[in-house]
Amino acid sequence: MARIVQKFGGSSVANLDRIMHVAHLVKREVDAGNEVAVVVSAMAGVTNQLVELVQKVSPFYDLREHDVVVSSGEQITAGLLSLVLQSMGIQARSWLAWQLPVLTDESHSKARIQLIRADLLKEELSNNKVAVLTGFQGITEDKRITTLGRGGSDTSAVALAAVLKADFCDIYTDVDGIYTADPNIVSKARKIDKITFEEMLEFASQGAKVLQTNSVEMAMRHNVRVRVRSSFSDVPGTWVVDESEILDHAPVSGIAHSRDEAKITLVDLIDHPSSFEKIFTPLSEAHINVDMIVKNISTSAGKIDLTFTVSKGDLERTLYVLEQRLTENVFDKINFDPDVAKVSVIGLGMKSHAGIASTMFKTLSEKGIPIYVISTSEVKISVLIAEEYLELAVRALHAAYNLDVH
Ligand code: ADP
Ligand code: ASP
Ligand code: MG
Repeated sequence: MARIVQKFGGSSVANLDRIMHVAHLVKREVDAGNEVAVVVSAMAGVTNQLVELVQKVSPFYDLREHDVVVSSGEQITAGLLSLVLQSMGIQARSWLAWQLPVLTDESHSKARIQLIRADLLKEELSNNKVAVLTGFQGITEDKRITTLGRGGSDTSAVALAAVLKADFCDIYTDVDGIYTADPNIVSKARKIDKITFEEMLEFASQGAKVLQTNSVEMAMRHNVRVRVRSSFSDVPGTWVVDESEILDHAPVSGIAHSRDEAKITLVDLIDHPSSFEKIFTPLSEAHINVDMIVKNISTSAGKIDLTFTVSKGDLERTLYVLEQRLTENVFDKINFDPDVAKVSVIGLGMKSHAGIASTMFKTLSEKGIPIYVISTSEVKISVLIAEEYLELAVRALHAAYNLDVH
C-alpha cells in the first residue's frame, strides 16, 4: 500500500468526459489499495477567462481581489470530481485551500506556500476516503485568499505530497513526460526517462511550463518523488530525481522557451546609479519581477537606454508604474514590445564544455533571426527574439545540438 498524490491539470479536467476519465484514474489507485489525495486545476481555459474579466475592470487592479476571482476555477473542478467519484461508489470530498488551510505569504498572484495543515486530511486518508484539494489556492495569516502564480497547482500537489510524506506525486498532464523541448513545437523532441531536479529547475524557470518552477524547488527541498505522465495515454512518464541517480550530464539537455515575455526600453535614462533604484524599487514594490536587463549607450550625452523584460501579464502594471516616473524626468520615453519570446539552451554539462554559445549564435544567424537581449548562467544561455521566429529558433537549435530523434 502506498500513499499517493495525483495532480490533474486543466486539459485533464477540461470537460465532464475528461473528469469522468480522471475519476477512473483515481479509482484505479484506490482499488489497488492505495491512499489517494488528489489536487485539481481549473478546467482548461477557465483561469484565462477569469484573468481577462479582472483585467477588463482595471489595469492596475487590487491583487487581493484578483486572487479571489482567479482562484475560483479550481473550486468547480474539485466539487465536480468529488461528485463523480461519489457516483462511482468512492468516498470522496472536496477541500478548498482555506479549509486545511494552505498558508501562504502575502505576495498575491504569485504567493508561496509556507505551511499546510493536513491533520484532517491525513485522518480522512487513513479512513480510505479520497481527498480532492483545489490546487493554485492559498490563504494568508490574515485570511485573504491568494493564488500561487500560473501553473501553481503543480506546487500545491508537491507541497501536499511533502506534508503527507507521500510515496510519490504523479503530475498528470496532456503530454506523456518531459521532453528535450516542447513536443508541441518540436516533433523530433525526445522523451527523457529521468531528469534531475537541477535540470528540471532550469527548464521550468526558462518557461517549460510542464512543471511550475516553485514545484520543482519544493520537490528538491523535500525530496518528493515526482513523475510527469499523461492522463490521455497509459505510457511510462518521466521521473524527476536527485542528481545522485544520474551520473553523466550531456552538455546540452534541452531547449526551453517562453512566450510570456514583454520587452521595455527606457530611452535616455540619466546615467547615474540612483536612476536604477528609481526604476526597479517601485517595480519590486508592485511585485513585478524583472528578468533580462541590458544597458545600452544612448546618442545623448550622459544618458543611456535601458532594456529589460517582464512577463506579458505584468506589462500593463509595469507601464503604469513607469509612467509615474516620466514626470520626474528620470528618462524621456518608454518603448515596449509584447511580441517577443525567450529561447534558452540548457545543460548542466555546459559548465565543462566550450562552444555551446557559438553554436547557438551561428544557428540563429544562419536562420536570419535577430537577437535583442542575451543572458547567461553556468547552465543556460538565453536569448530574447521576436515571437514570430520562436518556433523556427527552437527547432533549429534542437537540431543543432543533435537532440532530434532520428
Ligand atoms: P497542465 O494544464 O496539465 O498543467 P501545462 O499546459 O501547464 O499542463 O503543461 C503541459 C505543457 O507543457 C505541454 O502541453 C507542453 O506544450 C508544455 N511543455 C513545454 N516544454 C515542455 C517539455 N520540455 N516537455 C514536455 N512538455 C513541455
Ligand atoms: N488554473 C491555474 C492556471 O491556469 C493553475 C494551474 O493550472 O496549475 O494557471
Ligand atoms: Mg500546468
